[in-house]
Amino acid sequence: MARRVEGTVLRRRCASCGAEHFDFQFIGDTDMATEGLLAGTSPGHAVVGVREAGDAEWGAYCRGDPTVAEAAFQRAFGGPGWRLPRVLRWEGSVGVYACLECDAGECRVFEEVTPAEFIERGGQIPYEDGIELA
Ligand SMILES: [Zn+2]
Repeated sequence: MARRVEGTVLRRRCASCGAEHFDFQFIGDTDMATEGLLAGTSPGHAVVGVREAGDAEWGAYCRGDPTVAEAAFQRAFGGPGWRLPRVLRWEGSVGVYACLECDAGECRVFEEVTPAEFIERGGQIPYEDGIELA
């Protein structure tokens, strides 16, 4: 049975260089509902990929190392370089993220859209077998 994935697409903008990055915010009733799910993007492209991480990948990610997952995204989806978002700090419940394109930048969410809206605007959401995007 496919794992049903629900969420929204986030757009973040870098305050330094103006780059925009996309992310997928998973929504679930419980932590169990979203455990193991990872989203990545390819800087410069309107794309956000969704995968269910393997144990090694998820473990490394939880220890703060996203590179194992980035390699797995690359194998799964190909194309230009995949990156996972890197949170710098939390301001209350709002995450401030590192820019994926410049060193100094801080990125904040400026828009949240449904997956359908994102795709309508030309965005892509590749995901692996075993996942069903709600
Ligand atoms: Zn930047």
